[in-house]
Formats: sequence, C-alpha cells, structure tokens
Amino acid sequence: MSLTEFDLIKRYFEVEPPRQAINQLGIGDDCALLQVPSGCQVALTCDTMVENVHFFSGADPESLGHKLLAVNLSDLAAMGAEPFAATLALTLPRIDESWLTAFCRGFFSLAKLHKVDLIGGDTTSGPLTLTVQAFGIIQQGAALLRSNAEPGDGIFISGEIGNAGLGLKILKGYTCSDATSMLNCLDKPQPRIAQGLALRHKASACIDISDGLTADLNHILEASNVGASIYWEKLPLSPPVSAYIEESGDWLMPLTAGDDYELCFTAPTTMIDELPAGSICIGEITAESGLRLYRDGCLQSLTRKGYEHFA
Ligand SMILES: [Mg+2]
Repeated sequence: MSLTEFDLIKRYFEVEPPRQAINQLGIGDDCALLQVPSGCQVALTCDTMVENVHFFSGADPESLGHKLLAVNLSDLAAMGAEPFAATLALTLPRIDESWLTAFCRGFFSLAKLHKVDLIGGDTTSGPLTLTVQAFGIIQQGAALLRSNAEPGDGIFISGEIGNAGLGLKILKGYTCSDATSMLNCLDKPQPRIAQGLALRHKASACIDISDGLTADLNHILEASNVGASIYWEKLPLSPPVSAYIEESGDWLMPLTAGDDYELCFTAPTTMIDELPAGSICIGEITAESGLRLYRDGCLQSLTRKGYEHFA
C-alpha cells in the first residue's frame, strides 16, 4: 500500500470542515464533538454492508457509497429526525484509488444533498465491509416511534414498493424494458427525509421499508400490540412490477421484497388531509392482532416473510 491510512483519510475523507453548527469538531482529533441544542434529542443509527452478503462482488462503488449512507438516512427519516452528521468505517482488502474516488462521489453527493457532515470514522484492511453511523436531531418527544399505532388508524406508505425487488430479479437474469429504472431503485434508494419530517406530530407510528412491507409493518404491529388489515389492490405498483406479476403470478413479491426504503406509517383518520403529498392508504390498524391481507376481497395467507439475516 503506497498510501498510508492518514494520507487516505486526508485525501478522501477530510475534505471539508463541518457545515452544521451542531458539529463543533469533525475529523482530525480523537473524537468529534457535538453541541446539541437544548430541548433536542440525537437520533443515532448504524448499518453495515458486507461484500457477498449485502452486495455482489464487483458492485459499482459509486452506488455503494450512495446506498450505504442512504440506508442509514432512511432510518433517521423513519424517526422524523433531521440528519446532520455521519461516521464511516471502511474495511478494504486493498487501497484501490479509483474505487475510493467513485465510492466517495456516491457518498458525498448524497451527504451534501441532505447537509450531512462526515465527522469521523476508521479505515482497516480486511474483507470489504462498509459501515456508516448516522446522526439526526429532533425536538424532544417528537420522534416517530413504532409503538404508538392505535386501532382505527390508517396504514400508509410513501411510494411504490417492489421496484428494488424487481431490480434484484433483473440482476439475477429477469429481463424487462424498464430495467435501468428498476436497477436504479435498488442501487440508489432515496431516503424519505422530507416526508419523515412532515410526519412529526401527525403519524402515530413509522418505520422504513428495508426488509419488505409485511416484515416491517409487523414490527409496528408487535411494538404497538395491535393488528392490521391491508388490501393488495391499494398497493402502489409501478408498470414494470405489475407486468412482472402478470407474467409470473408472483403477487407476493412487492410485499416481501426489501430495499425499497419507502416509509410505512400509521395515522389517525383525522390527520389524512395533513399527510405529505403522495401518501397512499393501504389498510387500517385493528384491535385484533395479526396481519391480514385481502386480495380480490379474499383473505390471503402470508407465508413468505421478508428478508431475515440469520434465516
Ligand atoms: Mg429501519
């Protein structure tokens, strides 16, 4: 390795001083320092992506840089938090400067879009493993938890589901005319930060759809100790996903495939007119426990679950 760890950090990651006032000290000392305004809480999340587990070997480094930050920002969106900082830990098999340049392009363009400062991290040598920790700020008591859904609340999602799942099928050999846009949904998900912020004091519960709608909605149901009825016909599906279902009969795919990173949330019916534009009602919360799916007016069995890491 011609580049030392310190050279690498200086060249690729210590690019700009922090922009956000809350980040008093960024990269360059033993720790970063945050000055949290009074009455606010810090929301903190961490996600790791491992080669051959979360992405294929040889995956586009620019997309990896984008997605690694996006999945973390998506968790902040699901809490209604406003992102301000991130740390990055990279384990690299070797120093490949063209890989690092492209990775940083993906990472920093999304960071800039959402005003996120990179305030620290670590680099080590080993099997390709990418970790981000993201920090958001929120007024005390305003965080969108999973545990406050109430019977009678509507269940909403912020946009189409199944596109990323179809993208994964395309990577595995399925062919369709809209392949580029479906692959883009898989590789470059957009964290729904604005929607999350707009849901504060309106949604009763919220989660981001990372592991599939049914798996993630179930987390809300368990945390809130309620059940739900959802209606297949109400799911927002893109034309390529509808065409895929028509061809394959695999109508469970958009419910069980992960990686869409839309928000799934619940809200009292009195709030419907105040929800962010584009929110789609797909069902309602019930006192009776369990998740029931109706298609063509018939109750369906939901045997296939979302992605589970240790399954
Ligand atoms: Mg999440």
